[in-house]
Amino acid sequence: MTRLREFLKKINTKVGFSGLIRYDEPMALHTTFRVGGPADVWVQADAAVFPDYAAALLRAASAEAIPVFILGHGANLVVSDTGLRGIVLDTGGWAGVEKVSGTNAVSDIAPALRIRSGTEVDAAVEGAGALAFLAGMPASIGGAVYMNARCYGRSVSDTLIEVEILDEAFQRTIVPFRPEDYGYKKSPFQNRAVLILSATFRPEPRPPAEIWLEIEAHRQDRERKGHYRFPSAGSVFKNNRAFGKPTGQIIDELGLRGLSFGGAEVAPWHGNIIINTGTATAADIRALVEELISRVHAALGITLEPEILFV
Ligand SMILES: Cc1cc2nc3c(=O)[nH]c(=O)nc-3n(C[C@H](O)[C@H](O)[C@H](O)COP(=O)(O)OP(=O)(O)OC[C@H]3O[C@@H](n4cnc5c(N)ncnc54)[C@H](O)[C@@H]3O)c2cc1C
Repeated sequence: MTRLREFLKKINTKVGFSGLIRYDEPMALHTTFRVGGPADVWVQADAAVFPDYAAALLRAASAEAIPVFILGHGANLVVSDTGLRGIVLDTGGWAGVEKVSGTNAVSDIAPALRIRSGTEVDAAVEGAGALAFLAGMPASIGGAVYMNARCYGRSVSDTLIEVEILDEAFQRTIVPFRPEDYGYKKSPFQNRAVLILSATFRPEPRPPAEIWLEIEAHRQDRERKGHYRFPSAGSVFKNNRAFGKPTGQIIDELGLRGLSFGGAEVAPWHGNIIINTGTATAADIRALVEELISRVHAALGITLEPEILFV
């Protein structure tokens, strides 16, 4: 820990850090599942310094072989009970929406939206026709791009123009959208050690009242489906067309709703959601996921693929 303190002191002085730093920070405080042991150190840099600070931190950490985990809203994560070694860089301080015109593929009719990666999705959707489909989904914009989040028949990639990253050489680089780089819950950033700084989304001019109605409809639908009743990370497994039906339905039909392991339980109202009933550990969630994979495989010969990330 002394080494990390020294390391951060050096970087912070060099860049003029402002923000929050906490040692031995429980990751359960930063994940929607509310599980996860302590991170050696959790850092959230203010917007005024974020890009320069992140570049300096990532460069120096790479040189000293200190692992850095990039944290968005923690809505797709099961962090181990033993926590994370090294540094957790939380993007939450790097929030904001900017209107841009003259960008690649943007017409003059309406400006595109460039949104910083730490912006909460639910704040970004307000007034943004192209993003209304994401309303109510707990996530940061960076995490939604990284996961190529999908709901109500649309994916983030359907509306992307370009993504700004800190690349492997710690330089700010624009990655133009190319459809072949994206797929179902797949983005090119999953194969690269880069930090997403912002994403620019296609303008979709629509009457504000219409956007608002769509946003409200999705929020209410999620409420009705019990998304916020207990801590969770949304859908546990990916859907797969080859299975012929949604994964949730497969689990339901095998009578596995309510199956539990410690404090982790398959939601009694939805086969593809695991909930933390209050005392779940990451190990409980992992054991339940493995049990579901094994029971579905035994019954139907198909292998479910987790969408949630174990870190
Ligand atoms: C109630 C509920 C409902 C949900 N509904 C849906 C849904 O309808 N559709 C759907 O697709 N998902 C859904 N999810 C899952 C989750 O919202 C998405 O996966 C979301 O994209 C995760 O974003 P995040 O910011 O929380 O990322 P995190 O969970 O913090 O991180 C996920 C991954 O992205 C990486 N990452 C995050 N930010 C950056 C960045 N700036 N640069 C580089 N890498 C980064 C992390 O390192 C990690 O590998 C739901 C979750 C919950 C809790």
